[in-house]
Amino acid sequence: MKKTLILFATLCASLSLSAQQSQENPEAPKEARAFTGEFYATQQSTYTPNFKVDGTNAKVRNVILLIGDGMGHGAVNAGMFANGGRLTMTNLRTFGYVRTQSADNFTTDSAASGTAYATGRKTNNGYLGRDPEKKDLTNIPEILAPLGYACGVLSTDDLNGATPAAFFAHQDARNAKEGIWADLPASCLTYASAGSQSVYESMPLSTQEAIRKEFSVVYDPADPAVAGSKRLLYLPKTTGDGRGDYLPANTTNAIEYLAARSKKGFFLMVEGAHIDHGEHANNTAYTIRETLDFDKAVEAAVRFAERDGHTLVIISADHETGATTLLRGEPADGYVFTGFASRGHSPMMVPLFAYGPRSKDFSCVQENSDVANKIIAILTGKKGPVAEVPSKYIVNE
Ligand SMILES: [Zn+2]
Repeated sequence: MKKTLILFATLCASLSLSAQQSQENPEAPKEARAFTGEFYATQQSTYTPNFKVDGTNAKVRNVILLIGDGMGHGAVNAGMFANGGRLTMTNLRTFGYVRTQSADNFTTDSAASGTAYATGRKTNNGYLGRDPEKKDLTNIPEILAPLGYACGVLSTDDLNGATPAAFFAHQDARNAKEGIWADLPASCLTYASAGSQSVYESMPLSTQEAIRKEFSVVYDPADPAVAGSKRLLYLPKTTGDGRGDYLPANTTNAIEYLAARSKKGFFLMVEGAHIDHGEHANNTAYTIRETLDFDKAVEAAVRFAERDGHTLVIISADHETGATTLLRGEPADGYVFTGFASRGHSPMMVPLFAYGPRSKDFSCVQENSDVANKIIAILTGKKGPVAEVPSKYIVNE
């Protein structure tokens, strides 16, 4: 019965791939040409740092964790080959794999995986910063801030989006928007930037007031209030279309802000949230544009890490989306042809790239929760909670 089901699933997957192929045959249609042209125009430079401290045991003061939402192998391959065969993340030398299964589901959502990355513990789909019994979990900022580290989140999602929220909120429903925003003032974040002005203004006045008591709230990163502030919430007009270089530019801003306010060092989580949306829509151009934008944020982090010498950069994803695959391409022309076997998330492992001291600790197959536990251990010298391999999905030898 099981085998028949697997066979049926494989058949469906290949049928949907070939349906996609016939719709987007690159020989004839204008569509394919259109996105080929588009990627001539959007090819971008990449950066290769020196590798002097990469993989060494030099002291790590700062960790920058970059999460591409839905950025599995398909998105990385499509983005890389559409960009002439190079990305900053693929210019790095250390890589591994991450398993993303949640506590209650073979295929995770962003809330459970965000929680695993933020707390080192697996939880159920839909839960944010809480375990399967709905008890609050301690997130990385809550561990690090009392030790003198400054912590921040930056995302192209709304601030209540699952990935940024996992680093400050404790809710058992990812769509508890007001509850998530209300968790911000008491959080351990020094810096937050995500969507958006209008979302913030739609929150109850009492929540806005509580936030303004704790954070300087600005709508422009060049606002003079930034310099003297102790905690900053920067809300752009939009994190969707028309956001320009919001993500890469504010990766640099966030790094500078945190570095200037930390006694010991800093932790920053940067999310490229829309790669996932491109794949849910089975939209190749959207997926690639977002992957390339995310790679510019990676470049900003890597350039800082190279200068600093005590910064570890980790780049991975919360899960794969779209069962995205690459069927053929002409990298020199910036042309790729992708297929999608799904409109949802998939359970496949996602790639991880790392740069800086201790990068080699991540060069293996690991759980998303392991990534957090290693970050905690590297920065505090104390082991985080032991990562649980979700036994129902892994068959013991
Ligand atoms: Zn998604």
